[in-house]
Amino acid sequence: MIMLKVENLSVSYGMIQAVKDINFEVNEGEIVSLIGANGAGKTTILRTISGLIRPSKGIISFQGKSIEKETSPKIVSSGLVQVPEGRHVFTGMTVMENLELGAFLYTDKKESETILATIFERFPILAERKHQDASTLSGGEQQMLAMGRALMSRPKLLLLDEPSMGLAPIFIREIFSIIEEINKQGTTVLLIEQNAKMALSIADRGYVLETGKVVLEGTGEELLGSSEIQKAYLGG
Ligand code: ATP
Repeated sequence: MIMLKVENLSVSYGMIQAVKDINFEVNEGEIVSLIGANGAGKTTILRTISGLIRPSKGIISFQGKSIEKETSPKIVSSGLVQVPEGRHVFTGMTVMENLELGAFLYTDKKESETILATIFERFPILAERKHQDASTLSGGEQQMLAMGRALMSRPKLLLLDEPSMGLAPIFIREIFSIIEEINKQGTTVLLIEQNAKMALSIADRGYVLETGKVVLEGTGEELLGSSEIQKAYLGG
């Protein structure tokens, strides 16, 4: 079943057309990766899906309903949640307070406590540091906190914007294996990345973007093996 469908999407910033008539979809249960170099339009696509930017053209449907005119809070409460680039944890607040912010959809305290317990199980380091200010976490831990906060609202579709950015290789591997686990437990994932190798190795399917256009698509495996990808992104 198609969960997210993007049809003929174009997005402009004034005179600059950042996204040019692109089409892609994400099926329920999949991990789909959008890869591409700096400036290819990846972040613009995610922000448009999340309702933060309005497209100049095109349709975005989530679970069969078009959402391109919806507000972001509405989109979030329908189950589509983005973890922004650069993580954006709230400093001056503890790890716990950051996570509680993610539970804003739940008025039932019991329910949010249950979800919190599952998040702490998945990210034991966050449980250990729950009373620490978020600013004291390492980059990898902040990425976990940002993902944990998004998971507090029990998303159906999680949008991840460059989770590997600025992280040491050991943290990158850890974050990607957590993404796989989250997916196995039932959350569909749309991932955008410059780290093509990692993003394609966990993806069911992927799309390659170049200057706002989809130039290549296939299964993660096909793309990893393609000579174009090897040349352009994997230094091979
Ligand atoms: P990055 O990895 O650097 O985030 P990206 O693939 O996510 O790259 P976008 O950030 O979506 O790319 O940018 C796509 C294009 O749109 C680029 O040419 C960029 O310069 C331009 N752009 C992005 N944001 C704005 C903005 N607020 N105003 C004007 N142009 C912008």
